Amino acid sequence: MERPEVIRKTAHDLRVPPNLSDYDAECRAFSWDVARQALQGLPGGGLNIGFEAVDRHAAGALRDHVALRFVARNAPALDLSYGELARQTNRFANVLKGLGVVKGDRLFVLAGRIPELYVAVLGALKNGTVVTPMFSAFGPEPIATRINIGAGQVLVTTDRLYQRKVKQLRAKMPTLRHVLLVAEEGGTTNEPDTHDLATLMRAASDQFSTVATDPEDSALLHFTSGTTGTPKGAIHVHGAVVTHHATGRYALDLHPDDRYWCTADPGWVTGTSYGIIAPLLHGVTSLIDREEFDAERWYGLLESERISVWYTAPTAIRMLMKSGAELARQHSYPALRFVASVGEPLNPEAVWWGKEVLGLPIHDNWWQTETGGIMIANTPALAIKPGSMGRPLPGIEACIVEHLEAEGEPPRVRVVERPDVEGELALKAGWPSMFRGYLNNEARFRKCFAGEWYLTGDLARVDADGYYWFVGRTDDVIKSAGHLIGPFEVESALMEHPAVAEAGVIGKPDPVAGEVVKAFVSLKDGFKPDEVLRLDILGHARKRLGAAVAPKEIAFLPVLPRTRSGKIMRRLLKARELGLPEGDTSTLEGGA
Ligand code: ATP
Ligand code: MG
Repeated sequence: MERPEVIRKTAHDLRVPPNLSDYDAECRAFSWDVARQALQGLPGGGLNIGFEAVDRHAAGALRDHVALRFVARNAPALDLSYGELARQTNRFANVLKGLGVVKGDRLFVLAGRIPELYVAVLGALKNGTVVTPMFSAFGPEPIATRINIGAGQVLVTTDRLYQRKVKQLRAKMPTLRHVLLVAEEGGTTNEPDTHDLATLMRAASDQFSTVATDPEDSALLHFTSGTTGTPKGAIHVHGAVVTHHATGRYALDLHPDDRYWCTADPGWVTGTSYGIIAPLLHGVTSLIDREEFDAERWYGLLESERISVWYTAPTAIRMLMKSGAELARQHSYPALRFVASVGEPLNPEAVWWGKEVLGLPIHDNWWQTETGGIMIANTPALAIKPGSMGRPLPGIEACIVEHLEAEGEPPRVRVVERPDVEGELALKAGWPSMFRGYLNNEARFRKCFAGEWYLTGDLARVDADGYYWFVGRTDDVIKSAGHLIGPFEVESALMEHPAVAEAGVIGKPDPVAGEVVKAFVSLKDGFKPDEVLRLDILGHARKRLGAAVAPKEIAFLPVLPRTRSGKIMRRLLKARELGLPEGDTSTLEGGA
C-alpha cells in the first residue's frame, strides 16, 4: 500500500456520521457550560459521576440496554443492563453507608476486571466516597504504600488477593477500617477482620439517593504510571464528568448503539475515565475482557463481539504487529469503525498497520493522569498525519512554551508563536477534569503551573496546520554533540525496520559528545538477534536519521521493561545501563 504523508478519511471511515465533523466551527462554538448541559445534574443542583453514568440511563429508555458485558475464557459472558447496574451500585452504596463510610472517605479497589470492581467504583462515587482502583498485579508493598498515601478507609478485594498480598501488611495500614472480600470461587468468605461483600450486598437495599456532591468534590484519586519516577497521586473531582462526556463524544466518537471496547485496566486512569465512565455516560455497551493480552483472542473478540469502537494502547498494537498480519487476517471486522490509542507515542508504522490490517487508521490521542481526560486527539473530523497526536479538542487550548529560566520557581514561561519549534507542551488551566492536586505534595503541584498554563512535562512541537507532534518526556531528551534528540523520532525510525518489534532509546553519558544515543530493541517473532542483524538495523537507522541522530549502539533485549500500563521505562533502561539504582519499580510489569 502506498504511504502518503497524510491519511484522509474515506467513506468507509465515516460511514456513521461523526459527532465532530467541522473542527473549526465546533471549537469556536464550544463552551464547558454548554457541554455540561448534556448531563442531567443531581436534583439539588450538584453533579455526580456515578449518577450520570448509571442512574440517568437506568431511569430512562436505556434501562434494559446492556451497559457492561464481561467475558472470560472459562466462564459464560455476563451482561449487566443499566437498570441492573443501578440496583447493584445502589446496594453497594448502601453497604458503605451501613459501615459508616461517608462522603470524602477513601476506598481502594484491588481486583481483576470483575463485575464487583465496576459496581464498587460506581457505587462508591454515588456515595461521595473517593475511589482509587489499583492493578491487581501489584505486590504487597505498592498496595500498602498507596493505601497509606491515600489514607484509605475501605478496601474491596478478593479473598485470594487478600490472603496473598494484603493480610501480611494489614497492621501497617492503620487507616484501613473495612476490608470487603469477593469470594473468587463463589460462596462466602470467612477471613477474620473482613466482611463478605456478597452477604452485605444481599442484605442491602437496592434503592439509594445519590449523595449530594458538588462539581468540586473529590471523586477519584489516581496514581500516575511511574514511568519517570515514583508514582504521584492525582486528585480528580466529580466535575470531571463533563470532560469525560465531551471527549467520549469527540475523540472516541461514541454513539448510543456502539459496542465499545477499552482494553485498559482500571488500575490505569484510562481504564477508569474511558473503561468505566465515558462509555456509560454515552449509554453504549462496553466490553470488559477479564483475560490478559492474547493476540488471537483479541482478534476473535473484535470479530465475535462486533466491536464498533476500540480504544487501546501502542504497547498492545505493537504486540499485535509482532504476532504477524496473518493472524489478523484470519478474522474480519465489519462492525469496527473507529480505532483510537493512547499512552505512548504511536509510531507511524502502527498507524499504517491499522489501515492495512484492520482497514482503519488508528487515531492517536494524548493525555495524562493529571489531565483526567483526552486533550489532544486525532478525530473523525481531520485527516491523520501518522506520527502526530492530532489537534486539541474543542474546549482545550494548547501551546508550546519555552522556559525563561532553567529552574525558576514558580516557573516562568513564554508561549512560542512560531510553528515547528520544540518546547514544553502546555495547556490553558481550567478544563473540568484537570487534577486538583498531587496528594500530600503541594510543592510538586505548584511547579506544574506557570501563570495560566499547566506544564505537562512533555516536549512537543506544533506544525503550521495546528497538529501536535510528541518529541519525548522533558526528562528523556538526549543531548548529543549539540543536538537535542527526542527518543520518539529514533524509536519510530527503528520500528520501520522489518525485524524490530519495539524500541527504547536513551542517552548514554559520553565524555566527548555529552551523551550518545543508545537503543534497546526487541525483535519480531522469527528474527535472530545476531551481529548481522544489529549492523543492518544500525545501517537502516543511519540512512533514515543521519549519523548525528542515529543510535551509536544497539542492544537486543527479549522484551523491554514497561509499566503495567504498557509504557517503556526508559529510566530503567538507563539505570541498568549505567549500573545505577533502579528507583521505584512498583509499577514495573512482571515485577513485584
Ligand atoms: P509518571 O508521571 O509517573 O512518570 P506517566 O507520565 O507515564 O508516569 P501517565 O499519566 O499514565 O503516567 O501517562 C501520561 C504520559 O504518557 C504523558 O505525559 C506522555 O508522556 C505519555 N503519553 C500519553 N499519550 C501519549 C501519546 N499519544 N503520545 C505520546 N506520549 C503519550
Ligand atoms: Mg507523568
